[in-house]
Amino acid sequence: MKLLLHTCCAPCLVKCAESLRGEGLEPVLYWYNPNIHPVVEYRARRDALAAYAEGAGLALETEDVYGLRAFVAAVSPDFDGRCAHCYRVRMEAAAAFAAGHGYDAFSTTLLISPYQKHELLRQTAEAAAARHGVDFLYRDFRPLFRSGQQAARDMGLYRQKYCGCVFSEEERYGVEGRSRRPSK
Ligand code: SF4
Repeated sequence: MKLLLHTCCAPCLVKCAESLRGEGLEPVLYWYNPNIHPVVEYRARRDALAAYAEGAGLALETEDVYGLRAFVAAVSPDFDGRCAHCYRVRMEAAAAFAAGHGYDAFSTTLLISPYQKHELLRQTAEAAAARHGVDFLYRDFRPLFRSGQQAARDMGLYRQKYCGCVFSEEERYGVEGRSRRPSK
């Protein structure tokens, strides 16, 4: 099976790739994360992934789009409902890329995080897959999250402190009136 793996960051990739390779699948990575802000953080995650992918012998397709303005415009004024938009744009892009480049299926490393809205993510990805005529390869990678983070720590990979958007950064650092959301 030719598999495209939407990849949010190197730490989340480590165990997803290991698990897929354990199934005999060799994913091609796909970077498209216009939800990551500000630009210094975006570049840090993008570049950390590129370095890790090269060392791990994983092919990487990069759609280098920094999307602060479009993201904020799209989620306003329902800032607290922003994750639905965030999943939709990334899963749509992954599905479209997969369909347009001869892949059988796509998946995403976001499935490893216990902090994501797992079922919403799954439903969003499946809807995108149906629209573009490819399969969505669902795996519940969440049991691998802690060991993946530890592996990333051991390897000295860049590990972000918040999920990605400016709103999650605000929550991470406990701005008054905002609930705290963990890093991924
Ligand atoms: S909290 Fe994370 S998943 Fe939700 S919109 Fe922000 S970056 Fe996307």
